[in-house]
Amino acid sequence: MPSPDDWRRQGQERYLKRVALGWRKYIPYRKGWDHDHCAFCGAKFMESADQDILTEGYATDDNYRWVCRQCFEDFRDEFEWKVTNKTG
Ligand SMILES: [Zn+2]
Repeated sequence: MPSPDDWRRQGQERYLKRVALGWRKYIPYRKGWDHDHCAFCGAKFMESADQDILTEGYATDDNYRWVCRQCFEDFRDEFEWKVTNKTG
């Protein structure tokens, strides 16, 4: 588990504790948006991407919050996420 002072912590437990997350291709939350960021490390998600940009990740049911694979693995025990599918 990441340490209590891990740089990625920014109070995410207020909105991401015990939420349902599903692995999926990146889908913009709203028409007109073209990217999003991992809620923890800030990694960028886009629909089609160059290197260093993610096209898949764990998202809340409404596609509003995105979490990259690495942060998901690091914080999953602590945040007690309910994984709705797992194909990645
Ligand atoms: Zn991340």
